[in-house]
Amino acid sequence: MQLLVRPKPFFDESLESYLLRLAEANFIESYRLLSGAVKDWLLEQDHEASGAFPLELDTVNIWHARQNSSLRVRAFSLLEKLTDNEDLPLLALSLSHSGADFCGGYRALARGSTHIPRCFIRKSVIPVCPLCLAENPYIPQAWHYLTYSGCIKHGVYLIYECPSCGGSLSYIENEMIRNCRCGYDLSMADTTQADQKTLLLSQLASCEEVESPNSLGGISSISIRNAALLYFCITNSVDLNSEAEVEESLRLAIEFYESWPSLYVENFWEKFNKANRKLIKTYNKTPVAFAAGPYISAASLIKGMRIKENFILIELQDLLRDLVAKNPKSRIPNPGDMLLTIIEAAVLLQTTHEQIYLLHEKGYLKSAYRIQMRQKVSPYESIFYLRQVIELAKTRMPPDFGAVITYLPHW
Ligand SMILES: [Zn+2]
Ligand SMILES: [Zn+2]
Repeated sequence: MQLLVRPKPFFDESLESYLLRLAEANFIESYRLLSGAVKDWLLEQDHEASGAFPLELDTVNIWHARQNSSLRVRAFSLLEKLTDNEDLPLLALSLSHSGADFCGGYRALARGSTHIPRCFIRKSVIPVCPLCLAENPYIPQAWHYLTYSGCIKHGVYLIYECPSCGGSLSYIENEMIRNCRCGYDLSMADTTQADQKTLLLSQLASCEEVESPNSLGGISSISIRNAALLYFCITNSVDLNSEAEVEESLRLAIEFYESWPSLYVENFWEKFNKANRKLIKTYNKTPVAFAAGPYISAASLIKGMRIKENFILIELQDLLRDLVAKNPKSRIPNPGDMLLTIIEAAVLLQTTHEQIYLLHEKGYLKSAYRIQMRQKVSPYESIFYLRQVIELAKTRMPPDFGAVITYLPHW
């Protein structure tokens, strides 16, 4: 099998967009014909890898592989070397599963070194910038992200529907980059000037260097910004399955981080005041999450990241220290005596679950109830006192290197 023409990919192009252009440049009528030919060719080279190559464009990207994506990576590697000269850039353009753990257990995808929560990926509608399409007909990967709804090059909103037939846009479903399925040339569509918040959000989602007084602009890692945006959504009970709700909340997140940390601090105290009014059991039998929800468990942002980069955790630790200081130990239980899970204790102490078990075994952390010898406590169970964890955290300085603090040696 030969592909004679190999268009140059754009650095920010999506894999699906490139495959469509590859087919078109070689006068192959549809993506299906291209993928069928690729599969037949792969069958001769590597039987297993051939089975892992999907025929449909909407499932071709590596992260769609159901079980093990390594076979699909192998199929793409073979395909990259299809001809003798320059390799095809397929793996560099693909979006794959990421091992990064966002906000305490949210799954993520990665392209190159940038990680993005899976719930920020658009599922069906892929909006476009008509002005970009008029200049270069290709789809940037960023148009797949809910964090990107205004074009930073042209300062206009992306369009989600065809102005001619009103249908939702998806170049993957239509297998056409520049045209709607009704034939309308999308580069002709009218555009509207986007507001500053939308454009800032798009910039934060796609450029490392962003000049903005917004606290997210001070972070150069797009992955960490994505984690901070997800943290806002989680702690504001946003329905992550609703794309419209997530998009709307992301704009609110920009405002939230603009005034950082004042709104965060305000919300924090409000939550504890509210908890005081609706308390059912005494404080020393009540989980901190009863007041603060996922504030602590999600504050790891990206598991294993350095504390210096985690501006949310630093602020939260300060607030909890304040809470404990304002509520000294007394005969009547108070908010300082509320309970943390192992997960939350590990986030606040920036250490592993094993270290928390060890700290308990050696008597540094007392449990709220007796644990039988060798009994493993569920990491979700509220069992350690906030006061003790905060006091223990004060005794350790953040590490100079690495991200995990070791409190006790394993042997
Ligand atoms: Zn544009
Ligand atoms: Zn149309």
